Amino acid sequence: MAFDPHGIRGMILDMDGVIWRGDEPLGDLPAIFDRLSALSISVILASNNASVSIAQFQDKLKQFGVRLQPDQIISSTVVAAWYLAQRFPAGGPIYGVGENGMLNTLKDYGFYQSEDRDVLAVVVGLDRDFTYQKLTKAADLVRNGAPFIGTNPDPTFPHPGTLLPGAGAILAAIAAAAEVKPLILGKPEAAMFEVCLERLGTKPETTLMVGDRIDTDIAGAQAIGIKTALVLSGVSTYEEAQAWLPPIDWIGPDLHTLVYETFN
Ligand SMILES: [Mg+2]
Repeated sequence: MAFDPHGIRGMILDMDGVIWRGDEPLGDLPAIFDRLSALSISVILASNNASVSIAQFQDKLKQFGVRLQPDQIISSTVVAAWYLAQRFPAGGPIYGVGENGMLNTLKDYGFYQSEDRDVLAVVVGLDRDFTYQKLTKAADLVRNGAPFIGTNPDPTFPHPGTLLPGAGAILAAIAAAAEVKPLILGKPEAAMFEVCLERLGTKPETTLMVGDRIDTDIAGAQAIGIKTALVLSGVSTYEEAQAWLPPIDWIGPDLHTLVYETFN
């Protein structure tokens, strides 16, 4: 398959399955990032994981020898905060159902935790301390008209030997109790990609999304005209990639192969 890398000015990289798998880096990350910088390609990292803060992502990258600026890392919580900040530039009270990583990111954008009836939104991510009480409060506020925002739709996430309930399962409980559907902002929704393009300062046709999941990374990028590269170092398989329409621009084993063998 012929993929022309010329003209690519920005790259959006998914994290788990692309640059690391769990706690293991995938390839020589410092060399890969240096090479992208030498090619004058701007890079942004984008994850649907809403329970890790940007500072925590930076720390993890630092352990792997990669230093990135905070504005080069986007989580679905950042997208939620960005979305809220567009509507409420002055910030204000929200009711967040999520962990500290999510609540702290929202606070950085001026949105603080409150249980008042006049909250600007109910924002829901993965919360491993989710309770019936939180379900009651969130559903009540949503029923009363607070915008209902979900960070990501994942019903489960992998854990050694099993699957654990994800943000999508908590969203489903609140949605059922409130009888309102959430607005979900992580991949594959456009908001995530729009934030990335804004930060990169590139157009969709000069930007490449590199991901390991077809249903989120690839589908979402294709929907707004961003070029796509699927690495087989994560979730989706070669057979799934071959069968996918519209065709994925580049399919290969990993990020190292993409960066060293395609861009030269
Ligand atoms: Mg991934």
